Amino acid sequence: MNIETLTIDSASSALAAGATSATALAEAHYEKIAAENPKINAYLSLSRDRALRQAARIDAMAAAGDPLPPLAGVPLGIKDVLAMQGAPATAGSKILEGYMPPYDGTVIARLEAAGAVLLGKLNCDEFAMGSSNENSAYGPVRNPRALDRVPGGSSGGSAAAVAANMAVATLGTDTGGSIRQPAAFCGVVGMLPTYGRVSRYGLIAFASSLDRIGPFTKTVRDAATMLKVMAGHDPLDATSSRAPVPDYVAELATPVAGLRVGVPEEYFGEGLDPEIRAAIEETLDQLRKAGCVIKKVSLPHTRYAIPTYYVIATAEASSNLARFDGVRYGLRANEASTLSDLYRKTRDAGFGAEVKRRILLGTYALSAGYYDAYYKKAQQVRTLLTRDFLAAFNDVDVLVTPVTPTPPFKLGEKSDDPVAMYLADIYSVAASLAGICGMSVPCRNTAAGLPIGVQILGRHFDEATMLRVANAVEASQPKTL
Ligand code: GLN
Repeated sequence: MNIETLTIDSASSALAAGATSATALAEAHYEKIAAENPKINAYLSLSRDRALRQAARIDAMAAAGDPLPPLAGVPLGIKDVLAMQGAPATAGSKILEGYMPPYDGTVIARLEAAGAVLLGKLNCDEFAMGSSNENSAYGPVRNPRALDRVPGGSSGGSAAAVAANMAVATLGTDTGGSIRQPAAFCGVVGMLPTYGRVSRYGLIAFASSLDRIGPFTKTVRDAATMLKVMAGHDPLDATSSRAPVPDYVAELATPVAGLRVGVPEEYFGEGLDPEIRAAIEETLDQLRKAGCVIKKVSLPHTRYAIPTYYVIATAEASSNLARFDGVRYGLRANEASTLSDLYRKTRDAGFGAEVKRRILLGTYALSAGYYDAYYKKAQQVRTLLTRDFLAAFNDVDVLVTPVTPTPPFKLGEKSDDPVAMYLADIYSVAASLAGICGMSVPCRNTAAGLPIGVQILGRHFDEATMLRVANAVEASQPKTL
């Protein structure tokens, strides 16, 4: 068995045919992790006992001839912002060092019930704040396709683990691009489901009105399989939707001919790398050949997306992160003389520079004298950005854009310049603010061999159409698996 070419689909068929076992798949991945992780730093902890127990359970089901669930024996990795009982959950922060959640988040429970084998927890930017994985308190992750480059962030470990075959698929989270951007940088598929599609119960919150959980996979079909398992209403998350969950895999068979593909002019302006522009244009040509109708559209408020995002995300973060006070979770500063001294010393020692910067920005934006000027204004502009997308989706079924303005950059290249780092989120944050679904699919590489991703954005709760277009894009690429 070659784990380099293993997908959810091929693992399921191999298991059903008795050609391999869940235990063998888990062991092969642990060997790969032992070989690759020292240079990539994707995994922060391994949950070997739990994984092998689950693998044995699946193997017993297979031996008994029981029907196998959709992710039976599939080895997965989990971003370290999700609660998994008995496994550390650091969120990439020192302040949560030693914290073990006493429960499973909903997605974890659903994946395991579907037969998945959870290998361990994956590195990320601290509290998912970042675009390069350089903000992790546990060291940066390296891009498996070019070790001197960043894997993207904040779900850098999740993207790198799939790219380096240290998992068949992984979970990440995306607040302003953290699934789509690292997927593009590492050359894998990454999907952002519609806000409300997947329960956030058990996710360590960054910005609650924006945070979403989604899969990284090697193929579009695998992303469809993962979403089907993860999606659906959950009484434990008040924002989770009751919208019916279609059979995404079955829907992939519906041809894309006749679909209208919108190309928003604002996503092709100054600052876009010429090789990325050419790759997206080539993708549009391929979709045209597949029978799609390509149309120019306009999203006129796009230039306000970054400032709007960084006001709302930091405001919500400043409130969410107030709970890390040295009393309830993880780290506690010694030698504090009063309660407020304990808070101050714990938070000073436990949070990194980027997290502190965002708490300061967010606290300022929410303060009594400035609330209307910043937070309220940002919420109003968020409505305008959402209306841009709703208007565009009157004319087209999906939008196709770049994911990032540049290919993966070198470690250290932007880490001293937070504004340059924020500006690189230009193509991802508007969809986050609007709550629509999106995904990144690998298209061709740069001349230097660096991956390029194409972004496909879909209507609220219409992941099925987005996945069909993604599947057509993937089908038109030279085969890598
Ligand atoms: N890069 C963006 C930020 O730093 C997005 C992060 C995310 O999606 N979690 O906030």
